[in-house]
Amino acid sequence: MKLDNRGLLIVISGPSGVGKGTVRKALFERKGHDLVYSVSMTTRQPRAGEVEGKDYYFVSKEEFEERIKEGKFLEYTKFVGNYYGTPLDRVEEQLDLGKEVVLEIEVEGAKQVRKKMKDAIFIFIAPPTMADLKARLTSRGTESEEIIKERYQKACREIGLAYLYNYIVVNDTVENAADKIIAIIRSEHARTIRSISGYKKLLEEANNEHD
Ligand code: 5GP
Repeated sequence: MKLDNRGLLIVISGPSGVGKGTVRKALFERKGHDLVYSVSMTTRQPRAGEVEGKDYYFVSKEEFEERIKEGKFLEYTKFVGNYYGTPLDRVEEQLDLGKEVVLEIEVEGAKQVRKKMKDAIFIFIAPPTMADLKARLTSRGTESEEIIKERYQKACREIGLAYLYNYIVVNDTVENAADKIIAIIRSEHARTIRSISGYKKLLEEANNEHD
């Protein structure tokens, strides 16, 4: 039973270094046939191994700003000196096809989505401890000390906003975190509000039996 044929929008946030990307990959390995990942656009430089169109669409600042003017983002923000945004057209298209769309975005962007998409669900991935997060940020070895410090400060502020999310999932192990997200998606589908059209039909049948 489903409210309508529109898919579910799932917003995942969490501080830099918490392992969101790894959890998301584990989630897609297990549930990939049901889920669509919304590839973001960014002005940040690609990291080693990142693939255009798969990890991000990498664009110039000018191109990004042009798209802001044209209203082409569901949400966007500046994060540690670079723009990041969710292209609107693909999200709408996939939701209309009944697909579950996963956004992996930071908290400012999630706030914008909350205002626009009332039916979305919001999941915050948290580290077991702050010491654990700091260690993970440092060991990645891809950023300068200054950027790591900035990302850590931003992470501390983000942790303070986790209460705005529907769910908090602690990334103690990747498997556990992915398991919990799958359970969340499953129970969201069973909510009465999302089952209402199927329920109406059932009720009609039940009433006819009764008459
Ligand atoms: P990174 O540079 O580590 O790939 O991403 C930095 C932060 O930007 C992460 O918290 C990531 O989730 C977030 N991010 C990635 N894409 C988007 C997006 O489209 N919009 C917003 N608001 N944040 C994003």
